[in-house]
Amino acid sequence: SYDECYVKSVIRTIPDWPEPGVQFRDITPLFKDPKALRMISDAFIQRYIDSDITHIACIDARGFLIGSIMSYHLNLPLVLVRKKGKLPGETIHQEYKLEYGTATVEMQVDAVAEGDKVLVFDDLIATGGTILAACSIIKTLGATVSEAAALIDLPDLNGSQKIQEAGVPVHTLLAYE
Ligand code: 5GP
Repeated sequence: SYDECYVKSVIRTIPDWPEPGVQFRDITPLFKDPKALRMISDAFIQRYIDSDITHIACIDARGFLIGSIMSYHLNLPLVLVRKKGKLPGETIHQEYKLEYGTATVEMQVDAVAEGDKVLVFDDLIATGGTILAACSIIKTLGATVSEAAALIDLPDLNGSQKIQEAGVPVHTLLAYE
Protein backbone atom coordinates (compact mmCIF):
# COMPACT_ATOMS: atom_id res chain seq x y z
CA SER A 1 0.00 0.00 0.00
CA TYR A 2 0.96 3.64 -0.44
CA ASP A 3 3.63 4.86 1.98
CA GLU A 4 4.34 8.59 1.67
CA CYS A 5 7.50 8.41 3.81
CA TYR A 6 8.92 5.71 1.58
CA VAL A 7 8.15 7.63 -1.61
CA LYS A 8 9.65 10.81 -0.16
CA SER A 9 12.76 8.87 0.84
CA VAL A 10 13.50 8.05 -2.81
CA ILE A 11 12.97 11.60 -4.12
CA ARG A 12 16.23 13.49 -4.09
CA THR A 13 16.68 17.25 -3.61
CA ILE A 14 19.44 18.85 -5.64
CA PRO A 15 20.33 22.31 -4.29
CA ASP A 16 21.03 25.18 -6.72
CA TRP A 17 19.96 23.33 -9.89
CA PRO A 18 19.36 24.29 -12.68
CA GLU A 19 20.22 27.69 -11.21
CA PRO A 20 21.27 29.15 -7.83
CA GLY A 21 18.46 29.27 -5.27
CA VAL A 22 16.39 26.46 -6.83
CA GLN A 23 15.87 23.26 -4.83
CA PHE A 24 15.28 20.79 -7.63
CA ARG A 25 13.14 17.76 -6.66
CA ASP A 26 14.78 14.97 -8.63
CA ILE A 27 12.42 12.04 -9.26
CA THR A 28 14.85 9.93 -11.31
CA PRO A 29 15.63 7.68 -8.28
CA LEU A 30 11.92 6.83 -8.14
CA PHE A 31 12.24 5.10 -11.51
CA LYS A 32 15.18 3.06 -10.22
CA ASP A 33 13.00 1.80 -7.36
CA PRO A 34 10.22 -0.49 -8.62
CA LYS A 35 8.52 -0.56 -5.21
CA ALA A 36 8.19 3.23 -5.10
CA LEU A 37 7.18 3.44 -8.77
CA ARG A 38 4.50 0.81 -8.21
CA MET A 39 3.21 2.64 -5.11
CA ILE A 40 2.70 5.94 -6.84
CA SER A 41 1.37 4.38 -10.05
CA ASP A 42 -1.16 2.34 -8.05
CA ALA A 43 -2.22 5.43 -6.09
CA PHE A 44 -3.06 7.30 -9.30
CA ILE A 45 -4.69 4.26 -10.90
CA GLN A 46 -6.91 3.79 -7.83
CA ARG A 47 -8.02 7.41 -8.01
CA TYR A 48 -9.09 7.25 -11.66
CA ILE A 49 -10.19 3.63 -12.05
CA ASP A 50 -13.90 4.45 -11.63
CA SER A 51 -13.80 7.97 -13.06
CA ASP A 52 -15.36 9.10 -16.32
CA ILE A 53 -12.03 10.31 -17.71
CA THR A 54 -11.65 9.46 -21.41
CA HIS A 55 -8.06 10.60 -22.14
CA ILE A 56 -4.77 11.14 -20.31
CA ALA A 57 -2.79 14.16 -21.55
CA CYS A 58 0.73 13.88 -20.20
CA ILE A 59 3.36 16.58 -20.24
CA ASP A 60 6.85 16.43 -21.77
CA ALA A 61 8.90 14.69 -20.51
CA ARG A 62 8.63 13.30 -16.97
CA GLY A 63 4.82 13.36 -17.21
CA PHE A 64 5.13 10.76 -19.99
CA LEU A 65 6.69 8.20 -17.69
CA ILE A 66 3.86 7.78 -15.17
CA GLY A 67 1.21 8.87 -17.69
CA SER A 68 1.92 5.85 -19.86
CA ILE A 69 1.68 3.46 -16.89
CA MET A 70 -1.73 4.96 -16.06
CA SER A 71 -2.85 4.72 -19.67
CA TYR A 72 -1.96 1.01 -19.75
CA HIS A 73 -3.70 0.12 -16.49
CA LEU A 74 -6.76 2.33 -17.03
CA ASN A 75 -6.99 1.26 -20.67
CA LEU A 76 -7.32 4.90 -21.73
CA PRO A 77 -5.88 6.80 -24.71
CA LEU A 78 -2.67 8.68 -23.99
CA VAL A 79 -2.09 12.03 -25.71
CA LEU A 80 1.07 14.11 -25.57
CA VAL A 81 1.64 17.72 -24.54
CA ARG A 82 5.10 18.44 -25.92
CA LYS A 83 7.57 21.25 -25.98
CA LYS A 84 7.18 23.20 -29.21
CA GLY A 85 8.63 21.76 -32.39
CA LYS A 86 8.54 18.06 -31.48
CA LEU A 87 5.18 17.01 -32.94
CA PRO A 88 4.52 16.41 -36.67
CA GLY A 89 1.31 17.27 -38.47
CA GLU A 90 -1.20 19.95 -37.61
CA THR A 91 -0.63 21.32 -34.12
CA ILE A 92 -1.81 24.01 -31.73
CA HIS A 93 0.49 25.68 -29.25
CA GLN A 94 0.28 27.89 -26.18
CA GLU A 95 3.01 30.15 -24.86
CA TYR A 96 3.34 30.88 -21.13
CA LYS A 97 5.54 32.96 -18.88
CA LEU A 98 8.53 31.66 -16.97
CA GLU A 99 10.45 33.59 -14.33
CA TYR A 100 12.83 34.61 -17.12
CA GLY A 101 11.36 34.47 -20.63
CA THR A 102 8.68 32.18 -22.00
CA ALA A 103 8.04 28.53 -22.85
CA THR A 104 5.62 26.96 -25.31
CA VAL A 105 3.72 23.67 -25.23
CA GLU A 106 2.06 22.04 -28.20
CA MET A 107 -0.46 19.31 -29.04
CA GLN A 108 -1.68 17.72 -32.25
CA VAL A 109 -5.10 19.11 -33.16
CA ASP A 110 -6.65 15.62 -33.28
CA ALA A 111 -5.37 14.66 -29.81
CA VAL A 112 -8.69 15.40 -28.09
CA ALA A 113 -12.09 16.68 -29.22
CA GLU A 114 -15.45 17.94 -27.99
CA GLY A 115 -16.98 15.56 -25.45
CA ASP A 116 -13.64 14.22 -24.20
CA LYS A 117 -12.96 14.39 -20.46
CA VAL A 118 -9.24 14.79 -20.02
CA LEU A 119 -6.87 14.17 -17.13
CA VAL A 120 -3.78 16.38 -17.44
CA PHE A 121 -0.75 14.75 -15.86
CA ASP A 122 2.77 15.99 -15.02
CA ASP A 123 5.43 15.09 -12.46
CA LEU A 124 5.40 18.39 -10.55
CA ILE A 125 3.42 21.63 -10.19
CA ALA A 126 5.52 24.72 -9.51
CA THR A 127 3.99 27.99 -10.81
CA GLY A 128 1.28 26.04 -12.63
CA GLY A 129 2.16 27.68 -15.96
CA THR A 130 2.81 24.44 -17.82
CA ILE A 131 -0.43 22.74 -16.77
CA LEU A 132 -2.49 25.91 -17.35
CA ALA A 133 -1.07 26.19 -20.88
CA ALA A 134 -1.95 22.52 -21.52
CA CYS A 135 -5.49 23.13 -20.17
CA SER A 136 -5.87 26.11 -22.48
CA ILE A 137 -5.01 24.02 -25.57
CA ILE A 138 -7.34 21.20 -24.50
CA LYS A 139 -10.22 23.65 -23.99
CA THR A 140 -9.52 25.29 -27.36
CA LEU A 141 -9.85 21.84 -28.95
CA GLY A 142 -13.33 21.61 -27.36
CA ALA A 143 -12.59 19.03 -24.67
CA THR A 144 -13.06 19.36 -20.90
CA VAL A 145 -10.22 19.09 -18.36
CA SER A 146 -11.66 16.91 -15.57
CA GLU A 147 -8.63 17.17 -13.31
CA ALA A 148 -4.94 18.06 -13.26
CA ALA A 149 -2.72 15.61 -11.39
CA ALA A 150 0.94 15.54 -10.46
CA LEU A 151 3.17 13.56 -8.17
CA ILE A 152 4.53 16.66 -6.41
CA ASP A 153 3.08 20.06 -5.52
CA LEU A 154 5.17 23.06 -4.46
CA PRO A 155 2.36 24.95 -2.66
CA ASP A 156 4.52 27.99 -1.87
CA LEU A 157 4.55 28.82 -5.59
CA ASN A 158 0.70 28.86 -5.71
CA GLY A 159 0.51 26.91 -8.96
CA SER A 160 -2.04 24.37 -7.79
CA GLN A 161 -4.14 27.22 -6.36
CA LYS A 162 -4.05 29.05 -9.71
CA ILE A 163 -5.11 25.91 -11.58
CA GLN A 164 -8.02 25.44 -9.17
CA GLU A 165 -9.01 29.09 -9.56
CA ALA A 166 -9.15 28.44 -13.30
CA GLY A 167 -11.85 25.85 -12.55
CA VAL A 168 -9.73 22.69 -12.79
CA PRO A 169 -9.56 20.38 -9.74
CA VAL A 170 -6.00 19.41 -8.73
CA HIS A 171 -4.77 16.15 -7.24
CA THR A 172 -1.19 15.65 -6.02
CA LEU A 173 0.40 12.96 -3.83
CA LEU A 174 3.24 14.89 -2.15
CA ALA A 175 3.96 18.48 -1.16
CA TYR A 176 7.30 20.16 -0.51
CA GLU A 177 7.21 23.49 1.34
P1 5GP B 1 5.47 25.15 -13.63
O1 5GP B 1 5.04 25.31 -15.06
O2 5GP B 1 4.35 24.60 -12.77
O3 5GP B 1 6.12 26.37 -13.06
O4 5GP B 1 6.64 24.09 -13.61
C1 5GP B 1 6.38 22.71 -13.71
C2 5GP B 1 7.19 22.10 -14.80
O5 5GP B 1 8.57 22.31 -14.56
C3 5GP B 1 6.96 20.60 -14.84
O6 5GP B 1 6.90 20.17 -16.19
C4 5GP B 1 8.16 20.02 -14.11
O7 5GP B 1 8.62 18.86 -14.74
C5 5GP B 1 9.23 21.12 -14.17
N1 5GP B 1 9.83 21.37 -12.84
C6 5GP B 1 9.97 22.57 -12.22
N2 5GP B 1 10.60 22.43 -11.05
C7 5GP B 1 10.87 21.13 -10.89
C8 5GP B 1 11.49 20.34 -9.85
O8 5GP B 1 11.95 20.82 -8.79
N3 5GP B 1 11.57 19.00 -10.05
C9 5GP B 1 11.06 18.42 -11.18
N4 5GP B 1 11.16 17.07 -11.27
N5 5GP B 1 10.48 19.13 -12.17
C10 5GP B 1 10.37 20.45 -12.03
